[in-house]
Amino acid sequence: MRTWWREITGLVLPGACGGCGMPRTQLCPVCAGALYGAGARRARPVPEPGGLPVVHAAAAYTDAVRAVLLAHKERGARGLAGPLGTALAGAVRAATPGSAHSGGPLLLVPVPSARRAVRARGHDAGRRIALAAAAELRRTGTSARVLPVLRQRRAVADQSGLTARQRVANLSGALEVRAGGERLLAGGRAVLVDDLMTTGASLVEAARALSAAMRSGLHGFVRPSAAVVAVPALSFEINRN
Ligand SMILES: [Zn+2]
Repeated sequence: MRTWWREITGLVLPGACGGCGMPRTQLCPVCAGALYGAGARRARPVPEPGGLPVVHAAAAYTDAVRAVLLAHKERGARGLAGPLGTALAGAVRAATPGSAHSGGPLLLVPVPSARRAVRARGHDAGRRIALAAAAELRRTGTSARVLPVLRQRRAVADQSGLTARQRVANLSGALEVRAGGERLLAGGRAVLVDDLMTTGASLVEAARALSAAMRSGLHGFVRPSAAVVAVPALSFEINRN
């Protein structure tokens, strides 16, 4: 009965915390703290795949953070894009020290979701979070915009059940830069952005695709860094130099 009631009120009243269900708030202070209160830090998956860019993340993938990401992505709680964008903006700042003073805007390049998943959900959650992050960066004085130049070039097998190494192989060659994207990338500093890093395989492939496109003739290309909203807690704990 209680569960039934919660489900009904959750449907009728959108005003419940996306992280813990507390009523009459989109995101309670505790869950907001879990999302961006700790400050963005360097994160490394274990094991760390070759070709992974330097990754910074805003939050550990706790139950509350997972719930917020899923509420936004799968349940269409679009109001959560703002707080998720704030978290991602913090990770982008950590990934690009001194960027406010170096020439050219930050170019946030989303790691694309599978097209059929975007169609099924009716919105592109990753791009929405990236747009919110760019707005937050601009609001705080850093020139930034979203450059969705990566696209899937072939379908990939479901990643679940694959080892980290198998995931890298499964994704290899799966992404490419859209025609003309190299020109757009040459105007600023690229930062790959995503909601979640688990094994790092998607970021390895995204960095490979960007670098491959940029190597074709343009000078001054800086290897992209990466920023994500969340990583498993273990990715923060291991600190190797
Ligand atoms: Zn909450």
